[in-house]
Amino acid sequence: MGELDNEGPAGATVAAKGGHYLNVNSGAITPPIDLSTTFARDDRYNPINPANLYSRDNSPTFIHAERTIAELEDGDECLLFGSGMAAIAAIFYTLKPGSHVVLPDSMYWGAYSWIRLHCERADIFTSYYDPADAATIAAAIDRQTRTNIVWVETPSNPMMHVTDIALAAEIAHEAGALLCVDSTAATPVFCKPLNYGADLVIHSATKYLNGHSDVLAGALVTRDRHDLWDQVARERHLAGAVPGNLEAWLLLRGIRTLFVRVERAAVSAMRIATMLRAHGAVEAVLYPGLADHPGHEVAQRQMTGGFGALLSFQVRGDEAVAKKVAGQLQTIISATSLGGVETLIEHRYSVEPPETGVPENLLRLSVGIESCDDLIADLQQSLAALDK
Ligand SMILES: *Cc1c(COP(=O)(O)O)cnc(C)c1O
Repeated sequence: MGELDNEGPAGATVAAKGGHYLNVNSGAITPPIDLSTTFARDDRYNPINPANLYSRDNSPTFIHAERTIAELEDGDECLLFGSGMAAIAAIFYTLKPGSHVVLPDSMYWGAYSWIRLHCERADIFTSYYDPADAATIAAAIDRQTRTNIVWVETPSNPMMHVTDIALAAEIAHEAGALLCVDSTAATPVFCKPLNYGADLVIHSATKYLNGHSDVLAGALVTRDRHDLWDQVARERHLAGAVPGNLEAWLLLRGIRTLFVRVERAAVSAMRIATMLRAHGAVEAVLYPGLADHPGHEVAQRQMTGGFGALLSFQVRGDEAVAKKVAGQLQTIISATSLGGVETLIEHRYSVEPPETGVPENLLRLSVGIESCDDLIADLQQSLAALDK
């Protein structure tokens, strides 16, 4: 699968052209930022442009980013949201009391905690599976009522579990459920979940899609207009969790360099993972690009051209040692989030509650586009300074 199977331009071309914009009046090749929140009607009270009434739902500035993301995912439609969490919430807000969702037992903590809170409040039942083994979804499916949604996040943040999307889709569809895949860490550069049977793709566009740590946004992509999609679109139209026009414009600008950023960062991530794995101060490296990662084989099947730029590693020692490794870094910045051009390291144990099971000696590294030699030297000096 991947780009070569598709007709039409490759993803790198789609991203670089950013919506193929050309203003036939001015000749401008980048889209304008249309900041207007409202759109006028003509003398017969018809909208001047029927697509534009009010910018909560149909801003002409969103459309370029939405079309580009839909095309990058081999999808038909995309909806932008004000954050990745707003995109995720829009899906769950459509579920009625008594619905049932199947979740991985390890995933991005922000989504996990909100989904659990919401489902409890809204009388939505939840059950869990092991994200490293998609076959365990079958046992989590509720055959008596009906499972509405199966949730996959692959590779997962921060434990880097890889879930077999095709197998998850097969099990979900057999039970009449829809498969939603949070593909934030994989990016459309390396994985297109719709091609493996997913019904909805979720991105925190705050991360790799924008890529510059300066925009909060989320995106949902579908291939077909299933019922859930219409409900999600209505949810956004009425409840309005949309980004501002400036953010939507900046997002498209970020997307234009998506491929060069992410491809380079993934090459560096592979080198860094290999270095860390051989390092005496490191206990384990979690990166699906490594041949001995439990999800490597599945990742090879569903990811094309690389394994992403996110990895985690466990230092030999406890929480204090892990924090020391982060604290002694000079080039790499200690901060939350991921997917930007700058390399960030985070001690997730400090921010997640103990029940998530994230190890105290784990550091998550979001590899950026700096010189890889500089990043490796920085990690090596910090790890070496542990002995002192
Ligand atoms: C950051 C993140 C989100 C949430 O996105 P926001 O834009 O911060 O709301 C969702 N899923 C994953 C995998 C993430 O890393």
